[in-house]
Amino acid sequence: MTHDVDLVAVGGGLAGLTAARRALELGLNALVLEAAAEEKHLSASRVNGGVYHVGFRSVTTDPEELAQVIVRITDGFATPPLARALATNAARAVEWLQAQGADFTAMQPDEGWKDRVLAPLGFHEQTTMRWEGFGADRLLGLLEAGIVRQGGAILRGMRMTELIMENDACRGVVAAGPSGVTSIRARAVVLADGGFHGNHDMLRRFVTPHPEVLKLRGTPSGKGDGIRLAELAGAKLVGMEAFYGHVMSADSLHNDNLCPFPFLEFLAAAGVMVNSRAERFLDEGKGGHFVSNAMARYEDGVVNVVFDEAMWQGAGRYFFCPPNPNLVRAGGTLHQADDLGTLARLAGLPEAALRRTVAAHNAAIQNGTLDKLTPPRSGAKHRPEPFAAPPYYATPACAAITHTMGGLAIDAGARVLRGDGTPIPRLYAAGSNCGGIEGGPEVGYIGGLIKAVVFGLIAAETSAAR
Ligand SMILES: Cc1cc2nc3c(=O)[nH]c(=O)nc-3n(C[C@H](O)[C@H](O)[C@H](O)COP(=O)(O)OP(=O)(O)OC[C@H]3O[C@@H](n4cnc5c(N)ncnc54)[C@H](O)[C@@H]3O)c2cc1C
Repeated sequence: MTHDVDLVAVGGGLAGLTAARRALELGLNALVLEAAAEEKHLSASRVNGGVYHVGFRSVTTDPEELAQVIVRITDGFATPPLARALATNAARAVEWLQAQGADFTAMQPDEGWKDRVLAPLGFHEQTTMRWEGFGADRLLGLLEAGIVRQGGAILRGMRMTELIMENDACRGVVAAGPSGVTSIRARAVVLADGGFHGNHDMLRRFVTPHPEVLKLRGTPSGKGDGIRLAELAGAKLVGMEAFYGHVMSADSLHNDNLCPFPFLEFLAAAGVMVNSRAERFLDEGKGGHFVSNAMARYEDGVVNVVFDEAMWQGAGRYFFCPPNPNLVRAGGTLHQADDLGTLARLAGLPEAALRRTVAAHNAAIQNGTLDKLTPPRSGAKHRPEPFAAPPYYATPACAAITHTMGGLAIDAGARVLRGDGTPIPRLYAAGSNCGGIEGGPEVGYIGGLIKAVVFGLIAAETSAAR
């Protein structure tokens, strides 16, 4: 069987559906290939919190400021053209979703970035993964219905297996499904299959030697097919080592009640994170994205977060579905003791070393010498707190990957680039497949949803203009 279309979007998540829906609006014909067969297939785009932001700023922020924020958060890793493309289209992308029927509301307190959240809310209220009927689930239904209404098609159970390359240009894709193999010739191919967090071989190649102790916080739908096939066709890959991550209970590796919440990074940022020798090994003050990436590459990836009662009552109650009281309620391990020696024994840590680590932490806070600690501890983003009074706590933690941040190098028109910086004709990328926008040495997180919609829109618009 063969098809001939203007645009094929590979992946029925937010990026692919946006690209196809926008192409249809612009008068092109379009179809979506989705590897999963079920109508409510699981992807990051269905199981998320629906918070549309740009680097923890409202999408309505002045675009010039947003572009600077993106470059700053990524420590200069995001190139100015890509930062500008995302920043100048962010508010428009949300308005476009509203025009598709999406309903946005604010979460209180909005803290300057939760003012455009897909309704109905509810995703952030439990430790377990529940998504049915919440805003993100509803949005996918709206986009799919719009595509079908306007004459497009969604081919489910069809997994792209090849890119059709002729004279160095992409001319379509080959997909395999229950009814066999299909060739789809297309004037534009948009790779939107969601990154590679569901592919252990690629994670091992780019991210960590031990992906088995990296908790997958989302769905395994991102298999890296688009990135892998485009690389074979000459595409350049950028920032492949970074992922959007959090620090979660190590029990989440075998207890699904502890995923996607709570996060342990705020407790780590108040107290200390230690290895099996009760030594600090990273800068806890850099926050969850940086810390989870560093943990993923460290020894066997499983560590302990240690804190005291004041931190448990403060940082422990911060953010969505916080650890206090949800960690224990959901079955997570929390060691508690009235002295550090007993705590060390309960957590399987060397007593003297834990006392030394806590004493050094307290002394550095008191003397203002956090930068002299080994490793140095920053305080600008998250202020460390002294261990003041018992009880003391320790909880085993692991790194959790929500999705990969690296991927295909693109230009501001979402065109996939070769190593020499020239575009591969007719090949585009959007969403978690795109590299060069998030990550970098400080693992700057910009926002997966806004990246998916903006580059989905841009891919369709660039291809329509051509
Ligand atoms: C728990 C969680 C919470 C989140 N919360 C937020 C949030 O509040 N704010 C925010 O900005 N971001 C959030 N994100 C991130 C955001 O959801 C993602 O960045 C975004 O949805 C990615 O969209 P995508 O279309 O690129 O990929 P996906 O949604 O992963 O879609 C890719 C699709 O491609 C399909 N596919 C894979 N391989 C193939 C193939 N070979 N052929 C055909 N189809 C294929 C997959 O089945 C999948 O349906 C969250 C993610 C998770 C997991």
